[in-house]
Amino acid sequence: MGACSIADVLFPGTGVRVGAVKEFSGELVVEAVCAGPPGRCPGCGAVARRVHSSYHRWLAERPLGQSQVVVRLRARRFFCDRKSCPRLTFAEQVAGLTERHGRLTLAMKERLRAVAVELGGRPGTRLCRKMQLRAGRTLLLKLLQAPPVPDRAPRVLGVDDFALRRRTRYATVLIDVEASRVVDVLPDRTAETLAAWLTEHPGAEVICRDRASGYSKAIRQAAPQALEVADRWHLLQNLSNALERTCHQHRSCLRKHAEREAKPSTPVLRAVPQ
Ligand SMILES: [Zn+2]
Repeated sequence: MGACSIADVLFPGTGVRVGAVKEFSGELVVEAVCAGPPGRCPGCGAVARRVHSSYHRWLAERPLGQSQVVVRLRARRFFCDRKSCPRLTFAEQVAGLTERHGRLTLAMKERLRAVAVELGGRPGTRLCRKMQLRAGRTLLLKLLQAPPVPDRAPRVLGVDDFALRRRTRYATVLIDVEASRVVDVLPDRTAETLAAWLTEHPGAEVICRDRASGYSKAIRQAAPQALEVADRWHLLQNLSNALERTCHQHRSCLRKHAEREAKPSTPVLRAVPQ
């Protein structure tokens, strides 16, 4: 078993050195210095050769035991010497640790995002409080970013509407049925919007849709080769609606039968021989 420093634990493979760890009103402040190779200019990609200045930035890190951890990181600002690049200087970012304007280490951000994905805003905040993670509802919700939409539609595409505001505003959710994953969300449930999406994202072979005729129109128009499938829930709903209608039409007839069957038959009592 090899010796391990706090820098190895907190910043593995980043070239960040830890100078000191201090306790300050119940918080652990990790004084760290960027000591890795110079960064690349985000404008032109050239590797920097000259340091312009250094500055401190504060990053919230995952807690250690019962203590909050804050990293006070001394980072560098480099010159970009490439003449054609519009940037004169740029601030360095440490891969796997920092990002531009970020006030959380990337590990902390990932942890909070995991909470936000599972629980959302308010319940997430309650869990964070119990886990000693400092995060309010707004921060958690801000961390929820939609994943990029693929260029092509999934092979089996599910299309369904949902209410943004019941009875007034609806949107459409598109699902990769085979991967059970949301692919995109459309702002309404019109045929035009879905048709435009299907034109822009070809490749759907099977499209499962609800009963809305708007979707069917869009599929016929923009993905005529795709096989349309009514999904199971809507088929069952169709069936139950049809059944209800039929029962309603024949209610007098049904009542007559029901009354006949419900007539009490005279119980036959037999004397049990002693
Ligand atoms: Zn540059």
